[in-house]
Amino acid sequence: MVTRRNFLHRSAIGSVAAAMGGTALASCSEMTKEAPVVSKPVRPLAISTWDFGTKANAEAWKILEAGGSALDAVEAGVMVIEADEANTSVGIGGAPDRDGRVTLDACIMAPDGHCGSVCALEHIVHPISVARMVMEKTPHAILVADGALEFALAQGFKKENLLTEKSRLAWEKWKKTSKYEPKINVEVHDTIGMIAIDQKGDIAGACTTSGLAYKMRGRVGDSPIIGAGMYVDNEVGGAAATGLGEAVIRVVGSFLVVELMRQGRSPQEACEEAVARVVKKYADYKDIQVGFIAVNKLGQTGAFSIQSGFNYAVKSNDKNEVKDGSYLVKQ
Ligand code: ASP
Repeated sequence: MVTRRNFLHRSAIGSVAAAMGGTALASCSEMTKEAPVVSKPVRPLAISTWDFGTKANAEAWKILEAGGSALDAVEAGVMVIEADEANTSVGIGGAPDRDGRVTLDACIMAPDGHCGSVCALEHIVHPISVARMVMEKTPHAILVADGALEFALAQGFKKENLLTEKSRLAWEKWKKTSKYEPKINVEVHDTIGMIAIDQKGDIAGACTTSGLAYKMRGRVGDSPIIGAGMYVDNEVGGAAATGLGEAVIRVVGSFLVVELMRQGRSPQEACEEAVARVVKKYADYKDIQVGFIAVNKLGQTGAFSIQSGFNYAVKSNDKNEVKDGSYLVKQ
């Protein structure tokens, strides 16, 4: 519960810490004569959606531990999941659209606010790396579909078949019973979203997915939309979303979580409020899943979802764990 007093107290801490770096906290709490919430920022740190995030975090950790950048860490981390054929919601092996085409969405954001994104990209195993090149090598932030593919090929990426036998068979089975209707439910999606803080305290994020299984051709979810699927602000923290993109987009979910943290909410409180906003704007919320993860500049983390079953992975010096997120709808 955020009372006005502790809200203001935390806001003051948030803005001073943001202006001066996390080490400002101790002096801040001396000023207010209250015990500090955290005395020293936790860094480096990586947080990712879902239990498969542990594999991504482990790869990111190699870079973070060696003093590398948060940006390199998040890219390398999520690439592990993109390359994993067994994962049917990200990269190669991802579930196709209703026509049987695997179309991938990804975005990346750097500590200085630069960002890049690709939407509905086919044939490329690592959309996150294409998104990074959009950010670094073009004057644009987003490239879509054939334009994104042309750009990727020009940058030297190889065209590959992303539809594995396992995903093809599942799609064939779906076609028999679905009447070609994409169905919104809690099972047909998952995404890897990762936020990392490096040793310098800089924050970057990445998000990559094959999107809603058996979606209409051309459908793009929240994941490659900066602010919806993922957002970082180097003064405040970062957040990523998973679940039904159409619901996340309505509240610009990840940006909302970061802005709530800027206003003084803890990462956990911010994720809970963002889910509450989703639910307000989505009458059938009991039939869908949306989850958020968040981390602030101090390395405090949080997560919350509409339904049970959402978990996330956190890696820091003293932690390497998969945690069950708390959730709204109790059966
Ligand atoms: N958010 C993704 C989308 O809507 C899928 C997911 O995370 O489950 O495309």
